[in-house]
This record gives sequence, C-alpha cells and structure tokens, in this order.
Amino acid sequence: MLDIEKVRKDFPILKRKVNGKPLIYFDNAATSQKPQIVIDSIVDYYSNYNANIHRGVHTLSQEATNAYEEARIKIQKHFNAEKSHEIIFTSGTTHGINLVATGFSSILQKGDEIIVSALEHHSNIVPWQMLCERTEAVLKVIPMTLKGELIMEEYDKLLSKNTKLVFVNHVSNALGTINPIKKIIDKAHSFGAAVLIDGAQATPHIKPDIQKLDCDFYVCSAHKLCGPTGIGMLFGKEEWLNKLPPYQGGGEMIAKVTFEKTTYADLPHKFEAGTPNISGGIAFGVALDYLNGIGFENIATYEKELLDLATKKLLEIEGLKIYGPLENKASVISFNIEGIHPFDIGTIIDKLGIAVRTGHHCTQPIMDFYKIPGTIRASFSFYNTKEEINVFIEAVKRARNMLL
Ligand SMILES: *Cc1c(COP(=O)(O)O)cnc(C)c1O
Repeated sequence: MLDIEKVRKDFPILKRKVNGKPLIYFDNAATSQKPQIVIDSIVDYYSNYNANIHRGVHTLSQEATNAYEEARIKIQKHFNAEKSHEIIFTSGTTHGINLVATGFSSILQKGDEIIVSALEHHSNIVPWQMLCERTEAVLKVIPMTLKGELIMEEYDKLLSKNTKLVFVNHVSNALGTINPIKKIIDKAHSFGAAVLIDGAQATPHIKPDIQKLDCDFYVCSAHKLCGPTGIGMLFGKEEWLNKLPPYQGGGEMIAKVTFEKTTYADLPHKFEAGTPNISGGIAFGVALDYLNGIGFENIATYEKELLDLATKKLLEIEGLKIYGPLENKASVISFNIEGIHPFDIGTIIDKLGIAVRTGHHCTQPIMDFYKIPGTIRASFSFYNTKEEINVFIEAVKRARNMLL
C-alpha cells in the first residue's frame, strides 16, 4: 500500500502554489516531477565528485566513472536486459530512436518495408520517414479503431518477407492505450523483422521485462520516470548493436585513431561519443531505485484508482467525450467538451492552479484521425490524490459553464 502523504513529502515542488492555489500537477505524461533524492544526487555529484569519466586515473574520475557505470547496471537490472553493455545512455527517447533509424540507413535497401503504428508520437514517426528518404524503403502504418486501439488483423496483412523493422510504442502518450507489444514482437520475428519499442510513456507505470518481451530495441527517457531531463536509455540486443554503425564520432567511442583509419570502441562506448550527461546518468539510477522502493505494483494499483475515479466523474459532465479506450490503459485521459476549444479549458483551469496539457501532444496523425485540433490531456502519477481529482472536476465544470 502507498502512503500518499509520505510520498508527497518526497517531492518539493508539490508544496508550491500556482496563481495563489496549491499546484495540481496533471501533466505527468509530458514530464514527471522529481523527488528530493534525485535532486540531491545531482547536487552531490557536482559538489563532491565532479570529474570526467573513463579516462582519468585520479580518484574523482574513478568515483564518477564508478557511479555512472553502476547506474548502467541498475538500468540493466531494472529492465532485465541480459548484458550491461546492451544499455546505451542517450539524451532521451528521441535520441535513441534517431540512433537506430540512422543506423538502419546502411542496412535497408530499396523496396524494404518498415511498419509503424497509427498511435505514435512524432518522435517515432519522423526519424523513420527520414530513413525512408535516404534508403527508398517504404513506410506502412498499422491503422487504429475509433476506440483508440491498433487493428491487429491489419498488422497481420502488412507483415511480409519484405518487412525489416517494426516500431510501436508500449503505451500511447496521447490516449493511454497499452499496446499488445508481445504479440507485435512475436509476429514480426516470425517474418525475420526487428522490433523497436518506444517505452517513453510505459516506463513510469510498468516495469518491462526486456528478455521476456524479446524486443530488439527498447527506448525511454528518464525525465518521465522521476529522473532528470537530458538522459535516457537505448536497449539494443548485442547482435544488433554490433551490426549498426556508430551514430556520432568523437572521443569515448574509439579504440584507435590515426588519419588513415579509426577503429571503434566496444559496446556500449561505440554509441557514446563525447562527454556524456554524467550527473543525469547517475540520477537516472537513483530515480529507478526510488520507484522500485515504492513498487510498480503499488503504483499501478493506485494510479488505476485515480484513473477510474477521474473517468467516472468526467463522463458525468454533459458534452464531454473521452478519446481512447476506457479500460486496459495507463493513467492518461484525453478529452474534449463539445463546443469548446481545448486551449480555453486549459487556460482557465491553470488560473486555478491545475496543470494539464492541451493540444496535439506530438501526435498529429491521431488528432487528424478524430478530426479534432487537439484534446485536453490529464495524466496522473502516484503522487496525485483523489482530492486533487475532485478539485480538477469542479474546475472543468466551472470552465465549461463560463465558456458555454
Ligand atoms: C515523451 C515521448 C516521446 C519523446 O520523448 P523525449 O523525452 O521528448 O525524447 C516519445 N514517445 C512517447 C510515447 C512519449 O511519450
């Protein structure tokens, strides 16, 4: 069981007021708030052992290197990857996807096919379109239903011996849909295609078991799971990471450099050119420790209670429509009220201290599918409360009455 009062004390920002009202932070799908222990780990690094890693023989450099590499092992264990060198530090999900998409430039050929889903974030669409421009590979799209779920029969029809790669998100950031990724992975593998899973929206709520999933790549961002911005991870199966060329050239990623020929470092350093975000990597590990201390089962149970309460109360509001599935979803609710622009609701409830997101949520194809400019998205975390949801519901009702 979650001691919510105790948990909230871990997050200093939850004490602040916005427009004279206590902050109600329901924009967790965009980024999470940070517990003090994560903030402290960054201050501790810069105050006590700031040094560049991997190259120095001096004590500070060794301390920093050890902390950074311990974080990599924490990430490996958390996601149950087989080997720690299959974990590549990135600046976030977007970086991880671009690394893989760029690497596939040297693997794909004209006429090869790659498959995306209709439910993706722009980060998991645009890099692949750029890849198709470079290679003349063809991008195919798994369509979705009005309920906001992928049509698996259509996926079956898209798969063929030409399919080289499939990339879908684990959880949709716009609608909260949890996709059947194990089925998607197994089916792709039966055609010899590799699979990349965008876990940016799943990892704050679910602890994925990468070996069980058997995906070829899994990417996420630390900032959505209580860690800092500017750091994330790419898991890649060793055989794939050996096959892909380096993404960037520079220091750290080389074995030997001469003007005639340069050889590359072993994994994971081959993909980690330049001085990395050292404090961020360490803080990412601390964030995972913090979340595991709370427990992902406790998080899931509690967030479902918040989601169910908010869904029930929102649906009581006249003219309100929720987009996406009503069950088997993460704690994200996308909605609109008939006759009102989402932006107007967002602006009014901000005056009442409530942070929600309005707009297309970097998923314009989903908005086009529903023929809407955007939605209001409330996304809950384990540090939110039922009282906050009650205040939010009253605020939405008040905004509706003002605007209609
Ligand atoms: C947030 C998000 C991204 C992008 O993550 P960045 O941290 O901005 O790189 C990609 N996909 C999904 C599903 C997301 O929720």
